[in-house]
Amino acid sequence: MASMRRSGLTPFVYKAELPNDPRAADEMALVLHDVSPATWAPCERLLQLIQELDARAPVTLLVVPRLHHRPDFERDRKFRAAIDARLARGDEIALHGYTHLDEGPVPASTAEWFARRVLTDREGEFSTLTSAESRARIERGLALFRACSWRPAGFVPPAWQIGAQALDAVRQFRDVLEYTSTLCCIHSLPLDRSFSVPCLGYSARSALRRALSRRWTRLQAARLRKRAWLRIALHPLDAQHESTLAGWRDLLAGLLEERRAVRKSALLHSVVRGARQSRPTMPRREPVS
Ligand SMILES: [Zn+2]
Repeated sequence: MASMRRSGLTPFVYKAELPNDPRAADEMALVLHDVSPATWAPCERLLQLIQELDARAPVTLLVVPRLHHRPDFERDRKFRAAIDARLARGDEIALHGYTHLDEGPVPASTAEWFARRVLTDREGEFSTLTSAESRARIERGLALFRACSWRPAGFVPPAWQIGAQALDAVRQFRDVLEYTSTLCCIHSLPLDRSFSVPCLGYSARSALRRALSRRWTRLQAARLRKRAWLRIALHPLDAQHESTLAGWRDLLAGLLEERRAVRKSALLHSVVRGARQSRPTMPRREPVS
């Protein structure tokens, strides 16, 4: 824990509350990461899979304005129409960084190197940004959303990594954004409170990671069965491997039988209600994905 604290990443993790709802809400947020014109084809495949399992399940779409410095989506009519259609059916969107690229200085410690080069491969854009640069990127992203008449519910840092200065910047948007999150927590910006809500996902970067994470995710899903709230993280890369798609189909089919899919903002509202009798967790390190 101490080494992670030195790295300055995800500072609010250390005071996350563990919401404890005896009524067991049995809700989950289906969250699709890295949505952009360049990734729309695999995103559609994952959305189709969800639709086949539950035609009414809402999805939270994490949209990247300029994924890896590609042109933004403002003039991409097809993409805009696709997102408009998703919003009309009840989906939610959130701002997901700006370029999704970590172009910050070389990691200063082993822990930071592990977080920025192993847990993710240079995708943690907001890991080391200053407060001013973070604010500027969020403002540019929000301006693009406004140009499309889209109202994002939250901001999710790429690779779930956010440094202390970037988090300070995100907090300044509490009037327009409801939440930010990491792999283990959702942080309510208006309340300035963090809640531990587990997240299931696959790592699809290599055959070994895919095989291990399918097994790990299945075990985690069984272990977390009694948790009232769950987040599901899908990535476009998942759609490019039949084994991962099949894994999602099995996992989601089981989860959707037991849980109601809700938008991430609705999940947070439910968590906040359930957290009235919450207790603080012990300080914890970001889980390894
Ligand atoms: Zn991402």
